[in-house]
Amino acid sequence: MKVFKDKTSLRNFLEPFRAEKKSIGLVPTMGALHGGHISLVETCKKKNDICVVSIFVNPLQFNDKSDYEKYPHTPEADVELLEKARTDVLFIPDYSEMYVSNPMLKFQFGKLEAVMEGAFRPGHFSGVGIVVSKLFNIIQPTDAYFGQKDFQQVLIVKQLVKDLSYSINIHTCPTMRDTDGLAMSSRNKRLDESSRALAAELYKSLKKAADYGHRSSNVHAEQLKKIIVEHLAQYPEIVTEYVEVAHKETLDLMSGECNPEDVVMLLACYIGGVRLIDNMFVKDQQL
Ligand code: AMP
Repeated sequence: MKVFKDKTSLRNFLEPFRAEKKSIGLVPTMGALHGGHISLVETCKKKNDICVVSIFVNPLQFNDKSDYEKYPHTPEADVELLEKARTDVLFIPDYSEMYVSNPMLKFQFGKLEAVMEGAFRPGHFSGVGIVVSKLFNIIQPTDAYFGQKDFQQVLIVKQLVKDLSYSINIHTCPTMRDTDGLAMSSRNKRLDESSRALAAELYKSLKKAADYGHRSSNVHAEQLKKIIVEHLAQYPEIVTEYVEVAHKETLDLMSGECNPEDVVMLLACYIGGVRLIDNMFVKDQQL
């Protein structure tokens, strides 16, 4: 695996591949890698001639300073995992390499960021938009891979690509889960034993609602939400930030009777002071 800390060397390295019309896949990450990240790398490797992984914990997308400061860093283990997955290139810049100065640019994603992560983490998606644009400009990939785990982020990135006419195929990869259903996440490393055991209830609450959706001939958004909220309410240590039922393409919040094919259920909760998010379709399907 070639490792680059500076963008000029990386660009120079990729130039001949681009000249030969090789496809370049990018997997952007914030490190503390786990099986979810590696599944993106594997898909990228299958579909592209070159697989580039970036690791950069982007301060701009953290609205909560302590969340940024406590974000896990496991650089040696990350390199080992990426080597094992036969990653071609790792781009691991430091802050000054990515940001020559504090950017003045701000992105707004309208109604796509008016709810959920956008509403509870002001400025988060502007930060995501800026760092993703920078990575797209530095690496100029033909393809980029994102996890369904960060559902709203995928829609935001797709919008960014449309609005700025990037010629990049955006691929959405399924959420990888531990055996008890908990969505893999770098933040899981911060959970103590009892919080970790409890965290599986997030998955169970979504699964319970999806099972109801499967059984019913007419699905009501309020009923889906109620099942999730009531399941989580059994555990006082789980502090729910939001539970929403939304249209999977527009993110419009849904009410009343709805077509289960259109629906995604999303939540954010704190357990032991760690913020976790997850989502699930009512009908199992990919974007
Ligand atoms: P992060 O390092 O958390 O910024 O995540 C980097 C990429 O990995 C994003 O596109 C995430 O959506 C994706 N990702 C994170 N967790 C998972 C997971 N459990 N399964 C699949 N993809 C994931």
